[in-house]
Amino acid sequence: MPIDEMEIPRYVVMGENATSYLPKIVKKLNLKKVLIITGKKNTKRITEKKVVPLLTNEINIEVISIDSKIDFHTVKEIFENCQEKRYDAILAAGGGGVIDCGKITASWLDIPFISYPTAASHDGISSPSISFLLREEIKRYGKFSNIVKSPIAIIADTEVISQAPKRLLISGFGDMIAKYTAVRDWKLAHKLRNEPFSEYAASMALMSAKVVRNNIPIIRHGGEKAARVITKALIGSGVSMAIAGSSRPASGAEHMFSHALDLLSEKYNFKRALHGEQCGVGSIVTAYLHGMNWRKIRNALRAVGAPTTSKELGIADEYLIEALHIAHTIRPERYTILGDKGISREAAEEALRVTGIIK
Ligand code: ZN
Repeated sequence: MPIDEMEIPRYVVMGENATSYLPKIVKKLNLKKVLIITGKKNTKRITEKKVVPLLTNEINIEVISIDSKIDFHTVKEIFENCQEKRYDAILAAGGGGVIDCGKITASWLDIPFISYPTAASHDGISSPSISFLLREEIKRYGKFSNIVKSPIAIIADTEVISQAPKRLLISGFGDMIAKYTAVRDWKLAHKLRNEPFSEYAASMALMSAKVVRNNIPIIRHGGEKAARVITKALIGSGVSMAIAGSSRPASGAEHMFSHALDLLSEKYNFKRALHGEQCGVGSIVTAYLHGMNWRKIRNALRAVGAPTTSKELGIADEYLIEALHIAHTIRPERYTILGDKGISREAAEEALRVTGIIK
């Protein structure tokens, strides 16, 4: 039998004022010198107000503030500046870009990473993976690994997270609903390609989708309770990836569709929607291709106010058609309902039309 290797978070603290646990965790992990990476404006303000005062008398900290729109060069620069400094760990306090930056830098330095999300917009807050475009950039450069580790600790202060714009939370909902189709794609690859399948990881990812779907009234209402439900689901999904040793349980054709939109947005210079928003819409159409109850997914997204059409995404129909048509090329090794050859442009248009995503 093959050996399964898993690296999962050691401390997960979630709830109102979870930040107060920081000194305790830093002590348990025996950290003496920590680099804190944060964003600009709002996340910087949160870090300075909530995180820094708790740690400043306990350990040696340094804080850097970066633009949330990070690219490979930002990360490389931080990594190079860190090399001589001998930090014990990196703590990233911010949104997706900041978390990604901390995660990669810590992985390259081979030191622990602490995730302190200020929003709950996707499962990157807890997973051993980074955003698609950044991963591609690192791959293109060639010198660095794009494989990252799970955070050693996740501190999710729902009081902080609930202050983030509601749109981010709803995006987190979309990323979780997408697990229905992601797991279906994985099962398909298992059946048709004999790909290893973990019942535990799949159940955990599905549980995240179920939890958010069962709590639609709470999520629609927003606030601390909604932040708690979404954050819990995001953490579960991140851990499912750590158990599987890949993003398989959390990412299928609907994610490839979203990644394709990201690529097209760079190529044609249009504004893309949020990751979870795109994945949610992707999940409607790939559920349709699977012959699943796609209306159930669409209705759940609609019920919380997530986008379900091209108009609501703010992306032109032609790009959505193109994205679905080329989605299978995004990760050719990852078998999904799109098959090896993908679907024709006409079939893509038809699927998007039938599901009401385009008119
Ligand atoms: Zn995702």
